[in-house]
Amino acid sequence: MKKTIIIRYAELFLKGKNRGFFERAFEKNIEMALTGISHKLIKQCGRYLVVDFEEFEIEEILTRLKKVFGIHTMSVAYETDANMDAIFETAKIVCRQSGTFKVVSHRGDKKFPMTSVEISRELGGRLLSVYHDLKVDVHEPDFSVFVDIREGGKALVFGEFVEGANGMPVGTAGKGLLLISGGIDSPVAGYMMAKRGMNVDCLHFHSYPYTNMQAKEKVIDLAKTLAQYSCGTHLCTVSVTHIQEEIHKKCRPELMITLLRRFMFRIAERHAKRIGAQCLITGESLGQVASQTIEGITSSNSVIEELPVLRPLIGFDKNEIIDKSVKMGAYEISILPYEDCCTVFLPDFPATRPKLKDILREEAKLDVEGLIQTAFESMDKLVF
Ligand code: ATP
Ligand code: MG
Repeated sequence: MKKTIIIRYAELFLKGKNRGFFERAFEKNIEMALTGISHKLIKQCGRYLVVDFEEFEIEEILTRLKKVFGIHTMSVAYETDANMDAIFETAKIVCRQSGTFKVVSHRGDKKFPMTSVEISRELGGRLLSVYHDLKVDVHEPDFSVFVDIREGGKALVFGEFVEGANGMPVGTAGKGLLLISGGIDSPVAGYMMAKRGMNVDCLHFHSYPYTNMQAKEKVIDLAKTLAQYSCGTHLCTVSVTHIQEEIHKKCRPELMITLLRRFMFRIAERHAKRIGAQCLITGESLGQVASQTIEGITSSNSVIEELPVLRPLIGFDKNEIIDKSVKMGAYEISILPYEDCCTVFLPDFPATRPKLKDILREEAKLDVEGLIQTAFESMDKLVF
């Protein structure tokens, strides 16, 4: 029997003046997710339908659609003729044979001769007559059978709701540049901003040859994972080896991380402006490590000239971040062992409350502009 996938959207994003803008982004993202699978997407008032696909592709379609932000729920429905005999035959397939249930009907085609209440009553009665261990409970049923009378003489019958990714369609909330490491936090930060509709591009700093190629591969895999939610992403990689060496040679060791992070933020902001990103995104979480005290955050943030730095994880516990990492499918990659550039030349006692006057004195020993220029010359770009 022919099947249809019903897509219901999240939030109220299709309301108001921007409706067309949101719809276009949403449709484009669904089509992009289903690239390579033959199907047709139909817009209907209040929802979308995916039709004309091969039955064996259903699991793959659902797997892909679960990563499209803006989808609230989905259902795989049987399509049948809009008459009670055909609906009953189809409902028997969807309906369990025991337990409590109710029938929920919706009459999209007002020309159908019965009201939705009449459809539910009639269908419920017929199901009870064939499955004797069933009982009706309209308040707290074990399961429901849904019937949807469509225009054009067809009806959809289904029993399950599959949870979507929720959020807003990617492409409706501007563009951000994610500072991505090989750790757990930053991919989750990118995921969360994509969930709010943001296009996310990535920037990674490495210390090759102190960090190895596996470390880079790991970041590539994380960016690819994020790309499944963010409708693709660009990953730029920049070497900061020469910066770390300079700091190591000339500055107080306990300020290594603080000074390096200030370089990262400067490079990131300039890169963001070049690619048209409107903000930076980091995976910082307050107090998690030495550089993430409020003083540490202040000292790196103070080199930023214009763009906001979004820190979607700032108030989350590690466990909460790990849950999200598992959910997005990044955790297994993030926990692979690797060396972050921050761990190279790591001091024994990093300053947890760096003072701006100390930082500026140490930084004055460095050719900040020259080091930034050299970093940009090392930039590589990958597209996913
Ligand atoms: P993560 O789990 O994302 O690595 P973390 O808890 O290890 O974060 P830090 O190493 O202090 O914390 O980094 C804080 C944030 O700075 C990261 O979430 C990321 O946004 C950015 N960052 C750290 N290292 C790098 C890097 N090598 N390249 C790009 N961004 C980085
Ligand atoms: Mg890290």
